[in-house]
Amino acid sequence: MKVAVIGCGYVGLVTAACFAELGHNVAAADSDAVKVHLLQKGISPVHERHLPELMQKHTGDRLRFQDSIAEAIHQAEVVFICVGTPSLRSGAADLSGVSSAVCEIARCLRSHLLIVEKSTVPARTCQVIRRALIRQGVSQASFSLASNPEFLREGSAVHDFLYPDRIVVGVTDHSSRHMLQRLYMPLTSGTYHQSSDRIPGCTTGRIEFIETNPESAELIKHAANAFLAMKISFINAVANIAEAVGADIDDVRTGLGSDRRIGRAFLDAGIGYGGSCFTKDLPAFHAGAEKAGYRFDLLAEIVRINSGQRMRFLEKIRMNLSPLRGKRIAVLGLAFKGGTDDIRESPAVELVRGLLHEGARVVAFDPAAMDRAANEFPKGTLDFCTDPYKAMAEADTLLLLTDWPEFAALDLSRVRRLLRSPLVLDGRNLYPPNKMEAAGLNYISVGRSPVCLDSYALASKAVCLSRTGEEGFECISLATIR
Ligand code: NAD
Repeated sequence: MKVAVIGCGYVGLVTAACFAELGHNVAAADSDAVKVHLLQKGISPVHERHLPELMQKHTGDRLRFQDSIAEAIHQAEVVFICVGTPSLRSGAADLSGVSSAVCEIARCLRSHLLIVEKSTVPARTCQVIRRALIRQGVSQASFSLASNPEFLREGSAVHDFLYPDRIVVGVTDHSSRHMLQRLYMPLTSGTYHQSSDRIPGCTTGRIEFIETNPESAELIKHAANAFLAMKISFINAVANIAEAVGADIDDVRTGLGSDRRIGRAFLDAGIGYGGSCFTKDLPAFHAGAEKAGYRFDLLAEIVRINSGQRMRFLEKIRMNLSPLRGKRIAVLGLAFKGGTDDIRESPAVELVRGLLHEGARVVAFDPAAMDRAANEFPKGTLDFCTDPYKAMAEADTLLLLTDWPEFAALDLSRVRRLLRSPLVLDGRNLYPPNKMEAAGLNYISVGRSPVCLDSYALASKAVCLSRTGEEGFECISLATIR
């Protein structure tokens, strides 16, 4: 089929490359001319596993990049809108990118087109798009609208697109349904997964093709993200209690997650979620619910617990290193999660900002996100290293802030030798505490008892919870005597 994609960010680029991989002819457009220039040369502007090989395989053949929407949709039967939908000040979704893409489609629509929103948008956005097109003089007969929300995760986006749990389509007419069925047929029929040159992955059975109306499809996406964020905030709240009562959050997670009704996914305690999606989608969902006449305050609580989690971690750092001024702090991880170069709303970046603000000297390493981070901080405020061990040489402490797999496999005796003071604070619970203890490292993580070795001056394992009135989050203090 002839497919157009508007917006070549994490979602649009993966969508375009994967549809080409499924045998469709894809023309992708982006308003960022620099990005398009890179893409035309076969260079991916984002770090995503398998994307370079798909681009190399299909660019210039089944996959083309353009800086003009008109050219991209010229021969297309279906166009996917994959532009960003950031937050307005009010928390509601900023749909200006979607609306300018729609205006451009209206301006150059020549033959019938199925317009599909893949960007995450509030329920009823399809209706808003329909009205906008008609207002611009586009005849109802020359377009159809559908919603096809995307559930990929950065870091495993290509795999998630090609091996999804489900595909959700919100349609209002038979021909749109049929077109989307045809488009995804290589996945739903399993033919792609049987092909010899497929991107490796595993299906967990039949991929569900869920057909519904556009409003339900739009709501499914917001509800799914809110539910996942809720699981993260829930386990983090429980982790904070675990610290106070001497429970171990890993055991609690096992006991909780082994219940099939609950499941283990998204029950990892730590410094909370980041990234552009949950961070903007929860306020947008909250605003959308309010507009629909419902106060969904649970969503605000999820956000509150999440931001409190970073503050608790910062407090742990303060309590163990205070004063931070002049301290050399090694930071491993800047991306909001492992496997990506995306630092949007990254807890790691926010923590680094806090440390710098308090006068610490931060030396950081991230396998993919350092270029983006370098643009985020004023030149010279943050030092970058080309390898994790260089970052920790002579550091007063090591912070683990992103769950890159390589950070969970460090040579701990080398870590012990390199650090000026043997203290590791782990915001992602990457190590079993006993492993750190065996390596001679004092270790503070989330929801688990700290490892305080005799040789170190952490005098108390006591964890006290205190409520700080103003900020409204609970903060932990590890009593230390130096
Ligand atoms: P992104 O910021 O990485 O990419 C958006 C792209 O759209 C940019 O390259 C931008 O230049 C381009 N763009 C903006 N307005 C345009 C216009 N009018 N015409 C042409 N190009 C335009 O964003 P993203 O992370 O890819 O997210 C896109 C959408 O997908 C968002 O709604 C997001 O919520 C949703 N989503 C994201 C993820 C994720 O993990 N990133 C997962 C699922 C859904």
